[in-house]
Amino acid sequence: MKELLLGNEAIARGAWEAGVKFASGYPGTPSTEILETLAKHYPEVDSQWSANEKVAFEEGMGAAIGGLRVMVTMKMVGLNVAADSFMVFPYSGTNGGFVVISADDPGMHSSQNEQDNRYLALMAKVPVLEPSDAQECKDFVKLGLEISEQFSGPVMLRTTTRLAHHKGLVELGERAEVPQRKFTPDAKRFSVPIYRTLLRPGVEKRIANLRDYAETTPVNRVEWRSGQPGEPPTQGSVGFVSSSIAYQYAREIMPEASVFRLGLTHPVPPRALKEFCAAHETVYVVEEGEPFIEDQLKAMGITNLVGKSIFGVIGEYSPERLAKAIGLNVPEKPDFGKEITVLPRPPMLCVGCGHRTVFDSLKQLKVTVAGDIGCYTMGALPPYEASHTTFCMGASISTAFGLERAGHERAVAIIGDSTFVHAGIPALIDAVYNGSSLTLIILDNSTTGMTGQQPHPSAGKTLRGKPAPKLDLEGLVRAAGVKQVQVVDTWQRKDVARAVRSAVGHDGPAVVITRGPCMRLPEMKLSERGERPYFIDEALCTKCDACFKVWCPAITRTSAGFPIIDPVECTACTVCAQMCPVEAIGPMC
Ligand code: SF4
Ligand code: SF4
Repeated sequence: MKELLLGNEAIARGAWEAGVKFASGYPGTPSTEILETLAKHYPEVDSQWSANEKVAFEEGMGAAIGGLRVMVTMKMVGLNVAADSFMVFPYSGTNGGFVVISADDPGMHSSQNEQDNRYLALMAKVPVLEPSDAQECKDFVKLGLEISEQFSGPVMLRTTTRLAHHKGLVELGERAEVPQRKFTPDAKRFSVPIYRTLLRPGVEKRIANLRDYAETTPVNRVEWRSGQPGEPPTQGSVGFVSSSIAYQYAREIMPEASVFRLGLTHPVPPRALKEFCAAHETVYVVEEGEPFIEDQLKAMGITNLVGKSIFGVIGEYSPERLAKAIGLNVPEKPDFGKEITVLPRPPMLCVGCGHRTVFDSLKQLKVTVAGDIGCYTMGALPPYEASHTTFCMGASISTAFGLERAGHERAVAIIGDSTFVHAGIPALIDAVYNGSSLTLIILDNSTTGMTGQQPHPSAGKTLRGKPAPKLDLEGLVRAAGVKQVQVVDTWQRKDVARAVRSAVGHDGPAVVITRGPCMRLPEMKLSERGERPYFIDEALCTKCDACFKVWCPAITRTSAGFPIIDPVECTACTVCAQMCPVEAIGPMC
């Protein structure tokens, strides 16, 4: 039976069919739907969100050493967080099959940088599988687990945004119940770091064995059309070496050319690639990201290559981009966008988002603010322009500390609750320990808002929605040594402003926790809360425009110049009503 599945859904299905018993990860586009699908449809897989990617990886590593088949998921920058364990795991090797999904994001659609994680795998000496369609997304999970068990090492399955979020027909199979492998304690292999020197040659041996495997595995396949194996190239003959979704583009733009499709891109098969390249006058190497395959081909002494010099390393590829680079005629596509008038809309916080009051108060205070990764990155944009740096998960606190050392005495760090749990806690402990007086604002909306409202340890529920112990953020920051800790309702703008002002003026580190659930959580629907949208009574309104200072997208203006609240959009957050000097705003009757 076939089913139309997202690439990510196919990966989840592949894990289920392959007998995976434990799956962990941290949400991050474009990987998030994998664990969500597992949790929703496949109860046989014990699936969870972990506090961060390093923790997820190590929990998976433990489960695999304990003999289970395991899958761990994360977006590309998440693997940076897990890199410590990712680099060391190949030394001990695994027991049960272990596959880590690295969901890369060429084009940086929802990422703070554009990195090609195949280089991390190269450094860790971990094999990389790259599927090219939804069917392979499913099949390669099983293959990855088999490779992992055959070679006793972790395997990376690399996807990209387009692959993770495209839909394709997938042949479904049954779940295989794979017996748990026995864990045999072995101090030299698992326990004592000094013995890793003894394991080091084994890491090289594994990758050499995998190189031999790469020569024969059917996931590295040649589709011969132009050129002939073992024969010299004819004049003008063109071949492609490609992987992942770029392989589909190569097929599309030049169907008459031969293609060497690499499903295993690390290590690559030298003998087969040399034979392929020798049969063509020109070989185009088409791969999104960095010249990972291309450089390996060059290192083999192959010279008839054209790759990044014409295709570029920046951004996503498309058939049009590749065809243009090669000099092919690209048929003009109708630009449907031109026929639709779409009003320009800058990125903005959702209607009712509790972060508005925080940025409003910071803007008034004119302090230097280090931001973090989450919806609140939008605080850097107009109308607030109240956040001045954003780097990576957890960096706000340590960056604010550094700014403070550089003379910004009233530095403020802003971080979401999920991000604080992910990577902010050690930074806060460090800042307090090293005598900082920074202000930390934890935007506690009980979820991981930006990636789609996934729970985390201070949200009070698990991936499957079951109740879970709720991390006590106030207790935690007090335990770190912070003496001034204030908790405020994030929609009470005066309370938020007062608390932030007090924290910034405090002599010593201070924490403000602004609390109020993300408006996208299902329980925050007006109907669930039993509340009514707000409206503006024109009979009372003086057109003072104070309510517009909330910058709420639900408030617009009538032709008569009065403000008006869209009742469908309004979340009854009350912030505009708090602004009105004549109490013209209130709930609908
Ligand atoms: S998703 Fe939640 S946290 Fe993000 S802007 Fe919307 S309401 Fe705010
Ligand atoms: S704040 Fe009140 S009085 Fe002023 S424009 Fe808005 S609704 Fe009218």
